[in-house]
Amino acid sequence: MKITIIGTGYVGLVTGACLAELGNDVFCLDVDQRKIDLLNNGGIPIHEPGLEEVVARNRAAGRLQFSTDVAASVAHGQLQFIAVGTPPDEDGSADLQYVLAAARNIGRHMDGYKVIVDKSTVPVGTADRVAAALREELRHRGEESMEFAVVSNPEFLKEGAAVEDFMRPDRIVIGHDDSPAGQRARDVMKLLYAPFNRNHERVYWMDVRSAEFTKYAANAMLATRISFMNELANLADQVGADIEAVRHGIGSDPRIGHSFLYAGAGYGGSCFPKDVQALERTARQYDQELLILRAVEAVNDRQKQVLGRKVVQRFGEDLTGMTFAVWGLAFKPNTDDMREAPSRVLLKELIERGASVAVHDPVAMEEAQRVLALDLSDAQLARVAFRKTPMEALDGAEALVIVTEWKAFRSPDFEQIKARLKHPVIIDGRNLFEPPLMTGLGIEYHGIGRSVLT
Ligand code: NAD
Repeated sequence: MKITIIGTGYVGLVTGACLAELGNDVFCLDVDQRKIDLLNNGGIPIHEPGLEEVVARNRAAGRLQFSTDVAASVAHGQLQFIAVGTPPDEDGSADLQYVLAAARNIGRHMDGYKVIVDKSTVPVGTADRVAAALREELRHRGEESMEFAVVSNPEFLKEGAAVEDFMRPDRIVIGHDDSPAGQRARDVMKLLYAPFNRNHERVYWMDVRSAEFTKYAANAMLATRISFMNELANLADQVGADIEAVRHGIGSDPRIGHSFLYAGAGYGGSCFPKDVQALERTARQYDQELLILRAVEAVNDRQKQVLGRKVVQRFGEDLTGMTFAVWGLAFKPNTDDMREAPSRVLLKELIERGASVAVHDPVAMEEAQRVLALDLSDAQLARVAFRKTPMEALDGAEALVIVTEWKAFRSPDFEQIKARLKHPVIIDGRNLFEPPLMTGLGIEYHGIGRSVLT
């Protein structure tokens, strides 16, 4: 099938590459000339396991092209996927300017029936706005009778496992309307996703608004589980219980399940924070307040400060002249994404209290340099040392603080850690290690919700 992907970011590039892998002829559009040049020169703008190979293979096979040419992109695909960003507006609602700009471009250039697929995460009712923007452009051109359909097909991939998630989805949600153009769009989407549907029915067909809502509901639920566990972990620290034991104890109940119950340093990334906010904002437009989600957000804001708080509890309010080693900068493992990463809150806090930091992340160092320059002044940034290996970050530091649970941090050489640090102290924002084991090794260990009274 001939497919256009508008927006070649995390979602657009993965969607485009994976659909090309299945034999489709994919045209990826972006407004960012540098990104397109990089891709056309065989580079890849993001770190995502397996993606580079899929992109290279399909480019070589002539099934995947990258361009900034809007007219050519509209001409190419019968399916036009909108996968542009929907960042939070000043009031927390989703900023739809990129989505609507993409819709207008389609309306300006289309010359026959198209299926417009909203893949970006967009508030309930956005498909109607996309259709209205498109129709307005068609009206300007005197082409108001030209048919199209807007379907909602939210994306559930996880950064760090995006190719795998796209290729083996738990579910595919598609919302369409019952008009003749909507029914026709359903047939097109059915054909597109047929390869994913061979052994199990994975497609959930629904109306457009329910599909749009489903994406927010999913992210809001996941964020809720995280904040719930973080809040309990802080209490566990107070009462002397181990949140990890509690997690096993409750996760074994199939009604609860084990996934997404990890206490930690708070959730970040481009999706949970903004989607929780956007859903709250939507509710407010209908004079409703989502009390649970308001708390989820507040708990998370507080949790992002937990590591800074634990450093202060151990080393005092004034950290002048001290250096701390920080392992992990990305908001989660297997990505270089630093959007809303808890590490940013920690680094700012430590530096504002007078400390220096020596940091290491397996893939996010370059991106970290870019975003930390936004968070910190030049003088503050000068107190961040980027170290090539985790061990080098430890030299002369008071303690090690772990922010991201990269696999490479799970079995470190503890003797080396002790030898390189000034004090054998690990403050672990991801509960990677067992406290008794740490005590046995002579390490003072501070996890999240693990202050068991013995
Ligand atoms: P991103 O910022 O990585 O990519 C968006 C791309 O769109 C950018 O490259 C930008 O230059 C481009 N763009 C903006 N306006 C354009 C236009 N008019 N024409 C062509 N290109 C344009 O964003 P992302 O992380 O891929 O997210 C995209 C959407 O998918 C968001 O709504 C997000 O909430 C949703 N989503 C993201 C994830 C994720 O893990 N990142 C997962 C599921 C859903």
